[in-house]
Amino acid sequence: MIDSAFIARLTELLGPKGVLTDTNDLEPHLKEWRGLYRGGARVVAKPASTAEVSAVLKLCNDAGVPVVPQGGNTGLVGGAVAPEGSLILALGRMNRIRAIDPVAHTMTVDAGCILADIQTAAEAHDRLFPLSLAAEGTCQIGGNISTNAGGTAVLRYGNTRDLVLGVEVVLPDGQTLEGLRPLRKDNTGYDLKNLFIGAEGTLGIITGAVLKLYPRPRDVATAFVAVPDAQASVDLLSLARGQSGDTVTTFELMNRLSVEMVFRHVPGCSDPLSEVSPWYVLIELSSPRDGGGLTAALEEILGGAMESGLVTDAAIAQNEAQGAALWRLREEISDAQKFEGGSIKHDISVAIADVPAFMTEATEAVLALMPGIRPVSFGHVGDGNIHFNLSQPTEMDKQVFLDRWAEVAHEVHEIVHRFGGSFSAEHGIGQLKVGDLEYYKSPVELEIMRRVKRALDPKNLLNPGKVVIP
Ligand SMILES: Cc1cc2nc3c(=O)[nH]c(=O)nc-3n(C[C@H](O)[C@H](O)[C@H](O)COP(=O)(O)OP(=O)(O)OC[C@H]3O[C@@H](n4cnc5c(N)ncnc54)[C@H](O)[C@@H]3O)c2cc1C
Repeated sequence: MIDSAFIARLTELLGPKGVLTDTNDLEPHLKEWRGLYRGGARVVAKPASTAEVSAVLKLCNDAGVPVVPQGGNTGLVGGAVAPEGSLILALGRMNRIRAIDPVAHTMTVDAGCILADIQTAAEAHDRLFPLSLAAEGTCQIGGNISTNAGGTAVLRYGNTRDLVLGVEVVLPDGQTLEGLRPLRKDNTGYDLKNLFIGAEGTLGIITGAVLKLYPRPRDVATAFVAVPDAQASVDLLSLARGQSGDTVTTFELMNRLSVEMVFRHVPGCSDPLSEVSPWYVLIELSSPRDGGGLTAALEEILGGAMESGLVTDAAIAQNEAQGAALWRLREEISDAQKFEGGSIKHDISVAIADVPAFMTEATEAVLALMPGIRPVSFGHVGDGNIHFNLSQPTEMDKQVFLDRWAEVAHEVHEIVHRFGGSFSAEHGIGQLKVGDLEYYKSPVELEIMRRVKRALDPKNLLNPGKVVIP
């Protein structure tokens, strides 16, 4: 239980800077990006080292206090939301880049490093850390690893899981798993590291990681492309991968409504094309080879695709500023959608070839369920991952709309299931999708997950109520 003796002991362990109890200080830790949940915890612990994390976990384990780890608090499934009676463990003070080895292409970091700072540090050594998402200025690498974040470069470099060579983890009883190994090959039994990646803080606290770096791209070509339908986008992806020498790094699909919301609500964003199209793709090619050949290659690919009807129009960036402006059209969608009332969001994946059929079926189904509902479909089509988001009918009351979340999501997830897809492609389970996990995972998978949870966290003190109920 958290009482004054507990707070006093916590303050002894972390010093006054490491413990927050003031209401104003707590506020940013209780809010959640989507506003779907609100935390009720009354104390935040801010350790500055792995040893301090270990001491806090031991204290909580002894006192039976639940711990909710928090990184940048940008998660979209309520995973970092801490109920009353629990302690928030915020990793933000652990923000040291511990080492960079440009020759081995590795970087060792504290878990509280902000993703954008890691990207900048890699760049300063002429290297690339390819994980990239719209929340990169706020989210932390510990949160990225714990959610196995995806983002806009998965097609080329994989998910976060593929970018992590080693992790340092503190277990619920305070023991530390010292796994900061930079090895690219290590076949020594069970791969423990991968248990903690994507575990959303339910098995241990990630305090450090060894990350993979890549050569920094020197030649980048970006285009905003109008396509007649989702099928054309999938065909264009296949064509572009082959014809560009597999240099496609990003391939993002957006329906007209999603970009229209950006034009409507985000200052400085306007349509780079003269004709309206039902669908668009943001495509980026990149290569560490200097020479500037990629823009010409992209022009050639898109020219050919126009002749065959896969593409109807395109704006190709001629410099970095134009490229950044095209990127904003994709990155601002989530923020722009907030101005259009309530939205019910899905983060689904199906096989890439099934994306068009899924989109047609799901759109028809939600319109039949709720006439006037507005699909704002966009996402990482190159990974088969679509954010099939639905804005409320314009005349409907926001709360009346949001009250139907479970019904609408069930309809969509049933279609995903029929396609053999996933109801959570990259955002994780948190508390939002605990019911879906119970419903869609096989009994064998669920039982293994429960056994792992019970083995590593026998008192169910690490982020209880999230992911899997033991
Ligand atoms: C505008 C926007 C765009 C986004 N785009 C993408 C996207 O393209 N792809 C994508 O995958 N996600 C995306 N997200 C979701 C979110 O940014 C990611 O899930 C991110 O990885 C979360 O990192 P965080 O540091 O904010 O973690 P938090 O939100 O703080 O935590 C996420 C989960 O991890 C746990 N956790 C945090 N730190 C640790 C730790 N050190 N050890 C153990 N557990 C921990 C928390 O308890 C929680 O369960 C987006 C979010 C926003 C707001």
